[in-house]
Amino acid sequence: MTHSAGPVLEFRDVRKNYGALDAVADVSLAIATGEFVALVGASGSGKSTLLKTVNRLVEPSAGTVLFEGLDVATSPLPALRRRVGYVFQSIGLFPHMSVSENIAIVPRLAGEPLSSDRVGELLELVELEAEMRSRMPDELSGGQRQRVGVARALAGEPHLLLMDEPFGALDPLTRNALGERVRRLHKRFDLTTIMVTHDMAEALLLADRVLVMDGGRIVADETPQALLEGAGGRIAQGMVAVPRAQAEKLARMSR
Ligand code: ADP
Ligand code: MG
Repeated sequence: MTHSAGPVLEFRDVRKNYGALDAVADVSLAIATGEFVALVGASGSGKSTLLKTVNRLVEPSAGTVLFEGLDVATSPLPALRRRVGYVFQSIGLFPHMSVSENIAIVPRLAGEPLSSDRVGELLELVELEAEMRSRMPDELSGGQRQRVGVARALAGEPHLLLMDEPFGALDPLTRNALGERVRRLHKRFDLTTIMVTHDMAEALLLADRVLVMDGGRIVADETPQALLEGAGGRIAQGMVAVPRAQAEKLARMSR
């Protein structure tokens, strides 16, 4: 698959309903190569559902999702999932598989097993020691597991990296370190990245572009700078107010 001239990812009038509930409503959006996008919103606003339409964990009720110009609905699934790295909301490692088996699972399912050297390389990318490869997930800390999750998502040499609240369950220091690691990997591998988070501070600090979701819709699409300058509307500004108030309070305390 080659990069097309258009956006890496495009949602065209995407809707997903569960009975009367529109989990995702009328989302139209294009994401360009190299963007690091944060998708922010309250719990239940539709972030996970929207993300999952990309790798077909969720089939839209209406509309089209295009990845590198091709409708994902008609793309062969193993190849699609190889090109679209996905870090799950809950840690999502297979508990009965070792670290190296977890990392290698997606390429293996696509019929392209990973070499042991490549597993070592992936461990190094996420700053895990080589001897971790034979551990089982329950022998790792939360941060180490999430690093394995990122290594697994990178294993297929994806063009697009989707992360669903990847660091939500981690302590702030680990979370910060992993966020910066992912940002560096994004740059190094020319990835396009979408990171779901409910934390506006994390979004403002890491992303080039922030999408705000509410009730299944995208209600703001702004740069962090523009959000900090007051753009994006009421819901976005309500979310920006939280880290801003914290930052101001800390600044006052340190004077
Ligand atoms: P978020 O990730 O922003 O917390 P979700 O995308 O998980 O939100 O969910 C959006 C809405 O869709 C919620 O109201 C949720 O309860 C509902 N929902 C998600 N998945 C399902 C499902 N499989 N069946 C029924 N309702 C669902
Ligand atoms: Mg979610």
